[in-house]
Order: sequence, then structure tokens, then C-alpha cells
Amino acid sequence: VPELPEVEATRLSLAHRIRGARVTSVRLGRALRWPLGIEPAHLVDWIVGDVSRRGKYLWLPLSGPLRGSAAATGGLLLHLGMSGALRFELRLGPPGPHDHFEMQTSMGTLRLTDPRRFGAVVWAPAPDAGLAGKLLAGLGVEPLSDAFTAELLHQGLRGRRVSIKQALLAGDVVVGVGNIYCSEALFQAGIDPRTPAQRVSLARCTTLVSAVQATLQKALDSGGSTLRNFSNAEGMGGRFQELAQVYGRDGQACRRCDARVCRLVQGQRATYFCPGCQRR
Ligand SMILES: [Zn+2]
Repeated sequence: VPELPEVEATRLSLAHRIRGARVTSVRLGRALRWPLGIEPAHLVDWIVGDVSRRGKYLWLPLSGPLRGSAAATGGLLLHLGMSGALRFELRLGPPGPHDHFEMQTSMGTLRLTDPRRFGAVVWAPAPDAGLAGKLLAGLGVEPLSDAFTAELLHQGLRGRRVSIKQALLAGDVVVGVGNIYCSEALFQAGIDPRTPAQRVSLARCTTLVSAVQATLQKALDSGGSTLRNFSNAEGMGGRFQELAQVYGRDGQACRRCDARVCRLVQGQRATYFCPGCQRR
């Protein structure tokens, strides 16, 4: 599942190359999670702006041909879902059975390959309007921004009886701390993933905020994780999985204390932790 670092790796591998490109055609494959929301032919001659990211969504701003004195504006909100990957290349071969969105431009072809089709490409007049506005509303703060503080996290965990792992994964306090990075950050912070969220003290929230940021930064620096077949828009895989301390290492010795790394299931997601290093 592409998580925040993978989405950011995709953005970084794409944004500088697609900026200023003029759309020449748009082709749709089978239905994705939501319909595109505009006739593909309407997007021809629109110009791509600076691609940005919010949580695991990418926003591809587009400005339309001049009508009178003002250019129409809008954009595409993209999500990689469970199995999606974006490519942007000058030349790509003919679309395959899992290529469900393809936008040809003056500077290359943007293609979404998504075997499970939980991904999406959605038109909106602005990121805070239409379906995009609905999807982006209610997202927590960006984990690598100054807005993600121990105070904000502590406040957001107040009154929540679910485990700290599930509270972080929920995404309404902080976005982008997906399953892999959540296990890794809780290990780094020394917090047992089963600890009730409301019992995590402000002091431990301080440690946890740093751990989340360090874990995500490390993942960004290594180009994300390639657990199944993630690759960025240049077709490059990431290397984070080789750096994982607990994720996917159940039964193996903890690299810090030599205890055996454990696996459990919380809210239908696998959690990995070290009973020696992590406390309630
Ligand atoms: Zn340990």
C-alpha cells in the first residue's frame, strides 16, 4: 500500500518534469474508485501547474485555455489506493490491462497503473471544492509540518480508548502515519502499540512526534518502501523496508535488545513491536 513517503517520492519524481506540460489527450481504462467527473476531451489544451501533496493525495493543478480575459482553473486529485503507481515518461508502451488513466501531454505521458482499482483520479474546480474538497476535509495535520506538535497530538488523543496504534492510523489527528511507519515510530518512541491512546502522556507525545517525523524522513530519504511493487514516476523502487527495525521482522531478534520481535493484529492490520523495548 503506498503510504505518505511513497506518494511524496512519486510527487518529487514527477513535479519538475510535468510542470508546464500541455494536455493533448486523456484516456480512461476501467472504472476507478470514483468517476473522473469531467469529459476527458474537456481537458485538452489545459496546462499542468505545480503538483502538490496533502496526506496521500496528489493535486495536479490545471489551467484552461483563456476565455475572455480569465483562464479557467481546476485540477485532478489523484490517489494511489492499495496498489497504484504513477509513471510519467516521454514514451510509454501501449496501455496494459491495469492502466486505467492516461494523460498525454506535450512533455510526456502520465499513466496510473492500478491492478486493484482502489485508486482514483478526480476532477475538481479547486482542491477545496467538489469531491476533492470532501475527500480532503477532515484530514489531520501534515506530520512533517510545524503544525504537528506534542500538544496537538496529546489533545487529539484525549478521550480515545482505542490503542495508540489505531489512533495514529485513523488519520484525523495526523495524516500519513500508515501501517509500516506507525509500527516503526512506536518502536523508536518505546511505546507499546496496545497502549490506550488517552493514556499517552504529553512527555511521551513529545517523543512520539519526533519518532514519527524521523521515521517518515528516513523513509523519504530512502525513496519509500517497495513492499509489493511500488515504484515512483520514474519507475524506481524504494529501500526503506531494508531499514525497518520491527516491521515484517516477527520472530527475529530485536536489533536493540535481542528480545524476539512480536506480531499482533489491531483493527485488522498487522502490528510489529518489541516487548523488550516498548512499554505501556
Ligand atoms: Zn528490543
